[in-house]
Amino acid sequence: MATNRTFTMIKPDAVEKNYIGGILDKINAAGFRIVAMKYTKLSKVEAGAFYEVHSERPFYRELVDYMSNGPIVAAILEKENAVEDFRTLIGATNPAEAAEGTIRKLYAESISANAVHGSDSDDNAAIEGNFFFSSLERF
Ligand code: ATP
Ligand code: MG
Repeated sequence: MATNRTFTMIKPDAVEKNYIGGILDKINAAGFRIVAMKYTKLSKVEAGAFYEVHSERPFYRELVDYMSNGPIVAAILEKENAVEDFRTLIGATNPAEAAEGTIRKLYAESISANAVHGSDSDDNAAIEGNFFFSSLERF
């Protein structure tokens, strides 16, 4: 059964380019409510743990370096059908293939610096939200 929460990060490339406001605008306009949010920076170890599922992929080291390179915004978002609807809102992993109007089409520069993360399943949304937020940080 689909839950109503997903997890996102605004990645270092988008933070550096001052896209936080524009991306949050798109998220709110699409009907997501912010349950939890923080501005923080991942260490290499934390970024490696977060993306552990990709540890065998050729781009893993590049991904960990990039995700620990600067601050990010982490958030839990709520909406009916949150995981699937948020993946639609952000667009394809490769911005060159992302649909018009999606966050990655608007704000991402490449497949490795693609502006935002979105959970790919309800189970992962819960795991990823728990990675960043305690129960006292959710409203
Ligand atoms: P995310 O999990 O960040 O929301 P995604 O689910 O669209 O992205 P994944 O397949 O989970 O894509 O890959 C995780 C991240 O790894 C991508 O967002 C991207 O930053 C990076 N990545 C994926 N494929 C490549 C690739 N071929 N080359 C470089 N980086 C890649
Ligand atoms: Mg993914």
